[in-house]
Amino acid sequence: MVTIDNLTVSYRQHPALHHINGQFVDGALTAVIGPNGSGKSTLLKSIMGLLQPSGGQVRTNTTRERIAYLPQVTEIDRSFPLQVCDCVLLGCWSSTGAFGAVSATMLARATAAIRTVGLEGFEHRAVGSLSSGQFQRVLFARLLMQDAELILLDEPFNAMDSRTTAALLDLIHQWQTEGRTVIAVLHDDAQVRAHFDHTVLLARELVAWGPTELVLTEPNLQRARALAEAWDDNADICHADEVAA
Ligand code: ADP
Ligand code: MG
Repeated sequence: MVTIDNLTVSYRQHPALHHINGQFVDGALTAVIGPNGSGKSTLLKSIMGLLQPSGGQVRTNTTRERIAYLPQVTEIDRSFPLQVCDCVLLGCWSSTGAFGAVSATMLARATAAIRTVGLEGFEHRAVGSLSSGQFQRVLFARLLMQDAELILLDEPFNAMDSRTTAALLDLIHQWQTEGRTVIAVLHDDAQVRAHFDHTVLLARELVAWGPTELVLTEPNLQRARALAEAWDDNADICHADEVAA
């Protein structure tokens, strides 16, 4: 469903990802890991079509409406005046359309999704008044409304207590049994080993991609750390054309 073909993505000439190749396994749970600044969010945004590659391409054989994307919480503006239930209902926007009526069925689904993520009673709270963990659950409820084939999650468990994390991991496994493909940026190696069959290890370049037990080896992790240390030293001398050369 998603193939990454010699992908290079740059911000103002500085490559955040370069010459990445690989294919996500359909219907699998794949983790994307790597040091801070290694291009994990950039990869997800590229799959979502939010960034224009400076080289190569991302090929997806699904439509934009069938891709669900949970951005990193720090990138979401929560100042808009929206209630929890409306925010969750936005998940079925592609079927209601901008001016479409919300049916009783959709309301019932939204209520069920809110219950699933443990936010019953919060339906009419303004999203701006929620804690970040509660807001993250709202975003999961919204994902539940979308009938997505491909689900992209960027650090979904940040600011979450362990009980909520466990509940949301169950949801992710359920998505897998429903045949959906899930790609998640994560930090916790133990969590990746326990729940994700495949892993992509990034350090701006691809360090390893494959079955988790073959990717999360000490030599690979060391190599990713060493690459990350080198960026700090040469922060300003990395140009797209040099990398391409
Ligand atoms: P990660 O998610 O792995 O922490 P990102 O993909 O967010 O990494 O970022 C990769 C690199 O690109 C970082 O060095 C970051 O500072 C840089 N970067 C990300 N977004 C932008 C942007 N909008 N403008 C300029 N540089 C950016
Ligand atoms: Mg990120």
